Amino acid sequence: MAIAKTQGIILKYSNLGEADKILTILTRNNGKIKAIAKGSRKPKSSLLSASEVFVFSEFVLYRGTNFYHITQATVRETFYNLRKDLLRLSYATYFVELADAVSEEGIPSERLFMLLAKTLYYLSTGEIPTGLLHLAYQLKLMEISGFRPNLSRCVSCRGDKDFYPKFDAELGGVICRDCSETSSLFNPNAFKISQGTVEAFKFLLNTEISRVNTKKIDNTIFNEVDKILRAFIRIHLDKRFRSLEFLDGIKDSEL
Ligand SMILES: [Zn+2]
Repeated sequence: MAIAKTQGIILKYSNLGEADKILTILTRNNGKIKAIAKGSRKPKSSLLSASEVFVFSEFVLYRGTNFYHITQATVRETFYNLRKDLLRLSYATYFVELADAVSEEGIPSERLFMLLAKTLYYLSTGEIPTGLLHLAYQLKLMEISGFRPNLSRCVSCRGDKDFYPKFDAELGGVICRDCSETSSLFNPNAFKISQGTVEAFKFLLNTEISRVNTKKIDNTIFNEVDKILRAFIRIHLDKRFRSLEFLDGIKDSEL
């Protein structure tokens, strides 16, 4: 019987039988896994708290035929603050849904695990503004998943220019003036992009998540990054995120 020890964050769960749960866990060492937490819905279960969404624990697991089984879980961080505020809770829900969408079972990605762990941490402490965390997390997650936006060469002609007026979400990067004037007029996925927005993209990609609040990003640039990133994610992950729609609804109602 193979025993594994790993840190993990609960992405989601479904109930099983009377008192059990099947957890989807993003682990540090074993990638995304499905694990049965036996008896975890009983009020006195030692796995009760470790089986909740977002909770970060140290797990001892063994691998069965179809699932892992949890033999022990020690909670390290519940990110309790996320549950006290609907807006933060909604961001966290989208962040785990996104991590679930880009991860495959059994394929380890320590970078993705660390990104999610740190992002949930900063979301719960409020040290970094939520909107900024939102952009940085999405961009870094896309990079880890093999979709780093190309910001230094035209994605159409591969030319190295000083200035790029547009960003083509489908081709995954900036396009030069020549190409944008000839081909993108009819391309609904090409967005106008300012030099400041290109710089903001680079800053968010190249800066550790704990330090993304060290540079002021003004509202116009912020909105441009947000708009482009949304299209970029929608096209490359080819998925509708209900949690993002819910989050947008909450943000609108707070305005
Ligand atoms: Zn070009």
